[in-house]
Amino acid sequence: KPVLAVVGRPNVGKSQLVNRILGRREAVVQDLPGVTRDRVSYDASWNGREFVVVDTGGWVSDAKGMAAQIAEQAELAIGAADAVLFVVDATVGTTDEDEAVVKVLRRSGKPVVLAANKVDDQRLEPEAAGMWNLGLGEPFAVSALHGRGSGDLLDAILEALPEAPREPEEEIGGPTRVAIIGKPNVGKSSLLNKITGRQRAVVSDLAGTTVDPVDELVELDGEVYRFIDTAGIRRRVKEASGHEYYASLRTQQAIERAQVCIVVIDASESITDQDLKLLTMVEEAGKALVVAYNKWDLTDDERRRYLEREVERDVQAFAWAPHVNISALTGRNVDRLRKAIDAALEGWETRVSTGQLNAFLGRITAAHPHPVRSGKQARILFGTQAQNCPPTFALFTSGPLDPQYVRFVERRLREEFGFVGTPIHVEVRARQ
Ligand code: GDP
Repeated sequence: KPVLAVVGRPNVGKSQLVNRILGRREAVVQDLPGVTRDRVSYDASWNGREFVVVDTGGWVSDAKGMAAQIAEQAELAIGAADAVLFVVDATVGTTDEDEAVVKVLRRSGKPVVLAANKVDDQRLEPEAAGMWNLGLGEPFAVSALHGRGSGDLLDAILEALPEAPREPEEEIGGPTRVAIIGKPNVGKSSLLNKITGRQRAVVSDLAGTTVDPVDELVELDGEVYRFIDTAGIRRRVKEASGHEYYASLRTQQAIERAQVCIVVIDASESITDQDLKLLTMVEEAGKALVVAYNKWDLTDDERRRYLEREVERDVQAFAWAPHVNISALTGRNVDRLRKAIDAALEGWETRVSTGQLNAFLGRITAAHPHPVRSGKQARILFGTQAQNCPPTFALFTSGPLDPQYVRFVERRLREEFGFVGTPIHVEVRARQ
């Protein structure tokens, strides 16, 4: 899906405008400096077209001057976007900060839609027209608060966004898309260096393959892999300056674009909530998962025993994901990591035939029928794998199933068919 980044200085009403675009009525979010949000991108649609909105409203400020910060914010957001919605405040007019963003926008060459916000009534229209002076084309007078002008704005946004998706489906069968993610300092860039250092050949222009400049194509044992957003990993130092927010945005986008995600965890230190959150993000995005416990060279017997207990306690819910104990420093098990990637991809792409699936469902329901609820016995009538990547099953039943029973079916599906390294989904469609 194409990506729209919403940029502008604080208090111009970005978040409120994002709410408008998303058609959300409930939340009226102010641009509060210092407010971070877990989610930074949202699915939106207008006139049947879908796109992703990246809300930069939760950006955290640091010590730098405001104009410089905002320009930097815009730069990062724009890099990730197909088009930009630039929001200015018509009641204030253009400021130095706005001008700073304009420079960045011009340089980027990305399509820009200009929204002059807070035009709550007609009398402010001339103010909005004054925004022509930014040289970004027609200013769309809107009121995020009242919804004024938002239809025209959305039409302009659709026009600015590319029709085709950014990651074309034709990439199926192309290089496996892998994202390396993890907290800062767990060894992502060291691992990437180890991997790219090992490649036999630098693949530059593979037939029919578009290469995002932030990606790297790497050939390992005759197979080509596309490592996603390696620029984000390598530019670590630059982005470390107070840009937790952008780190999380990049991570989210890398997961979105990947087929397989490697979550790197520092084995020499305790597993943290942040590690677990990343694992959960991958699972929720429905991507294949490999866990790499890095810095193994720094662990002694005692630490390893303790790690084992931590894994048992905290990472049990991801026991389906293959894990590899590696050292990006010495190169230990980096080969095995590639095998784990392949295994996870295979699990993710698995298709179970309808015949096989129903034979299996017949066996497990005969041995363990669904419990009787209010005198009724829900039965699974028929099942089919609706999708792969990740494997998704639809069960047609005579009535609703207990959540525990659905989990039981999921467990048995894994026992029967493996599904190494992939989340699986089971959807119940009860006949009424
Ligand atoms: P990133 O922030 O996740 O990209 O982490 P880096 O790759 O920059 O690594 C952070 C620090 O950990 C650096 O000082 C690396 O040299 C060190 N490091 C990374 N991997 C290993 C490893 O396997 N063993 C040891 N001993 N140090 C490592």
